[in-house]
Amino acid sequence: MHSPDVTAVFQLPDEAATQRLGEALAPILQPGLVIYLDGDLGAGKTTLARALIRALGHTGPVKSPTYSLVEVYVFSSLYLYHFDFYRFESPEEFLDAGLGEYFNDTAICLVEWPERAEGCVPPADLRLRLHHAGVGRVVEALADSPKGEACLSALIPSMGVANSSATPVPR
Ligand code: ADP
Ligand code: MG
Repeated sequence: MHSPDVTAVFQLPDEAATQRLGEALAPILQPGLVIYLDGDLGAGKTTLARALIRALGHTGPVKSPTYSLVEVYVFSSLYLYHFDFYRFESPEEFLDAGLGEYFNDTAICLVEWPERAEGCVPPADLRLRLHHAGVGRVVEALADSPKGEACLSALIPSMGVANSSATPVPR
């Protein structure tokens, strides 16, 4: 895998900080971007996705795709697909379900549990790795492509200015 040139660590001391990260990502997303949301159960992947989807203008409920595999959102010409592969027993289920066609230049794809579709799900542009840290969370962001680097480079200053409780630590 391409070793990331741009990485950052953001402290997320409470749920509101996770939501602010989602809100900060929303305006800088480009069509075609694939974002992996890594982390254990309860790490905050769906919380982050939900805040991002709401910040894009979705007003209805944002369900976890744990049972549906994918939830679809349409924002004028932009499609956003929110996946969750937690229940996959093998990565080939990604292919069996015909999910490859969702990953295209007009869509943003958010992927929870990408490791359960490893080798079948397309690679990420940006990986957000959420970890428990005391009662809060820490997220490590890694850009894996030029598109991911552009996104993360825009995210770092916007998190720094908009959110004093999420401290970017560029390395
Ligand atoms: P996942 O999708 O990773 O399994 P969820 O987002 O469904 O996790 O749930 C995470 C839980 O952790 C929710 O109860 C949410 O309120 C909480 N949470 C999210 N972010 C934080 C945070 N930064 N600090 C503390 N709790 C958080
Ligand atoms: Mg989830």
